[in-house]
Amino acid sequence: MKCTTEQHFTGQIWRPPFEANSVLLQATSGCSHNKCTFCSLYHGTKFRASPFAEIEHDLQIIQRSQPHARRVWLTGANPFCLSYEKLVELALLIREYLPNVLNIGGFARISDITPKTRAEWADLRRLGYDRISIGTESGDDLTLARMNKGYTARDIVEQCVKLQDAGIEYNITYLNGLAGAGNGTRNAIETAKIYSQIRPFIISVVSLTVFPESQLYAEIQRGEYAESSELERLQELKTLIENLMLDTPFTLLANTVSNPIPLTGVIPQERGRLVRELETMIASAHEDELRKYREGIRSL
Ligand code: SF4
Repeated sequence: MKCTTEQHFTGQIWRPPFEANSVLLQATSGCSHNKCTFCSLYHGTKFRASPFAEIEHDLQIIQRSQPHARRVWLTGANPFCLSYEKLVELALLIREYLPNVLNIGGFARISDITPKTRAEWADLRRLGYDRISIGTESGDDLTLARMNKGYTARDIVEQCVKLQDAGIEYNITYLNGLAGAGNGTRNAIETAKIYSQIRPFIISVVSLTVFPESQLYAEIQRGEYAESSELERLQELKTLIENLMLDTPFTLLANTVSNPIPLTGVIPQERGRLVRELETMIASAHEDELRKYREGIRSL
């Protein structure tokens, strides 16, 4: 192995904004699925699991710069596609170099949760895996199939409940506008029914921004898909918020660059305020201005 003083990072690195203080470690790169039609996040990066020698090299570097690190964020689209055995080995290796680490997170697909049993997830929780970020995107089967997500709404419930039973906390993402023009209300209502059966601690709302590298962009050019207007998306978000009836409180974060008007709050406590803010936005927003904002977004 070539000895360098730099960590291995392949392609574009993404992490949720609330992971800003976590140590980044590459265990996989790219996405093992890489078929969602709207997605260009890992365009041009082939999926690869990092050899353990490479991970160990990176941990040695982290050990020198951040020996007291408390949380590790595994980069790549879905490091949790690694087998149970590999995740066990990885957690033990992380602890060997960073003994103060309390927990380890990363992005996961619903289909990464499926092959592991409840007991295996409980083991992984004991080894520190927690606060996983899952890009569910929608709970509407028509939208999930149309976008080639590779799982159903029922899978979301079953696999998230499995994590809950294992004591693993997770947050999920809703992709506002994904169902396309005229379908926002259906997407919001169907998704709210599914999300109301699980217990994420955060629901992040990202608004669909289509980049030229994605398959969906080509479909739009061919007239096979029509994007939701910005005003329809505000209405969709309002419908989602009105219909989310989870057993436990959660934070709604709609404040990334993809959201032209940022909105955050705790539900159910602040549901009324969020709905009122959205009503005010809907009454005063101009489609042209919001669309211009979206067309100016160069990266998420
Ligand atoms: S949305 Fe997630 S799972 Fe789908 S291709 Fe992109 S990174 Fe992979």
